[in-house]
Amino acid sequence: MRSRFFRTAGELKAPKFIYQSGSARNALAIGKMAMTIAIVERDDGSIVLVDCGYAEEICTNPTMHAGRVLSLSVLGLESTGEDAIVRQLQTLGFDPRKVSHVVATHLHLDHVGAIKDFPNAELVVAREEFDAFLTQPRFPGYRRQDLVSAGRIRIVDLKEDPRFGFPGSFDLFGDSEIVLLDAKGHTRGTLAVAIDDGKRPYIHIGDAAYQSWEYGLAPSGPSRLAKLTAWNESALHETYRVLREAENHERRPILVPAHDIDVYATLPHDPKA
Ligand SMILES: [Zn+2]
Repeated sequence: MRSRFFRTAGELKAPKFIYQSGSARNALAIGKMAMTIAIVERDDGSIVLVDCGYAEEICTNPTMHAGRVLSLSVLGLESTGEDAIVRQLQTLGFDPRKVSHVVATHLHLDHVGAIKDFPNAELVVAREEFDAFLTQPRFPGYRRQDLVSAGRIRIVDLKEDPRFGFPGSFDLFGDSEIVLLDAKGHTRGTLAVAIDDGKRPYIHIGDAAYQSWEYGLAPSGPSRLAKLTAWNESALHETYRVLREAENHERRPILVPAHDIDVYATLPHDPKA
């Protein structure tokens, strides 16, 4: 692995009371959430993304985002075209055509909408998630048109041994650099993705928890937003337990909820970091 770093594809605005803990002050105030993408440059120069955010056309014109899904319409996207991950990669000197894989933590618009910006990428998704996408097209958050423009879709089963405490796993390249982990609950096939350069691993947890406080014990989640959008609340709670265990794993992985802007601020944002 040559480098791994994180970027946010714009910011989401939402009233704090729906995603912060009940004890948060100024709960009626509007807060900002990140839309965190992990970018991994492999030794052969290929690039792997964990999630890809909104498409460039939506980042350029965020009002297109309005009204997309009922349950998430409280979220307002703040972005310009420069925030699209494809544009950020270009600005950094990367060729977007080298993006070989986009691992989808799940198939909601804010996580996979930009697949159309990466024509050479294979979209990697858990079987349960793909099945849910096909069989529950009206389930809030899925948009059928998002995958129509995906060139190739690779469906994986998390049948390998537990890792970092997650009950199932799939090692994408067989070298432990990118390992898909079973973190269902937010959706039927939500993945967490371990990014391991042999030092301290990061685990991008998508929306397995929106904010890191949610999987803690005092206060404990889910937030109103997580409750509202969960596929299965008991699975969500079980995954929170797994996330606590993962954080205490001997290798001390850093857990990255896609939308936690405070966690985002602590991450490396530059490929040379
Ligand atoms: Zn999300």
